[in-house]
Amino acid sequence: MFLYDEDVAAWLNALTDKEFIEFFYKHLASRRINDDPQGIHNRLALAEIIPHTNRRQPLVHMLCTSPGDSPADAPIKWLGQCCGFLTGSWQRSATCPACGAAVRDA
Ligand SMILES: [Zn+2]
Repeated sequence: MFLYDEDVAAWLNALTDKEFIEFFYKHLASRRINDDPQGIHNRLALAEIIPHTNRRQPLVHMLCTSPGDSPADAPIKWLGQCCGFLTGSWQRSATCPACGAAVRDA
């Protein structure tokens, strides 16, 4: 079976934000990029970048998954922090994609 880029992009763009984030962390985040030859495995993460208005630098939220059930269209409204990053998720309870710990309130 051959998948066209446009079909894959259309399918991904039809997902809600929550579905897209869950799909990414379930199926793509373990993709290896620039693995360290000494065995340290890098991971991928999603981030929302909010362009600066009055700030000098854009605001960056590392996007996280949340445990439990939530509607597919749950908005990304909970801000937290972990590993030196601001985080965003659809529930207050969220898992840091960098370290796997529960994020703290921002
Ligand atoms: Zn963390």
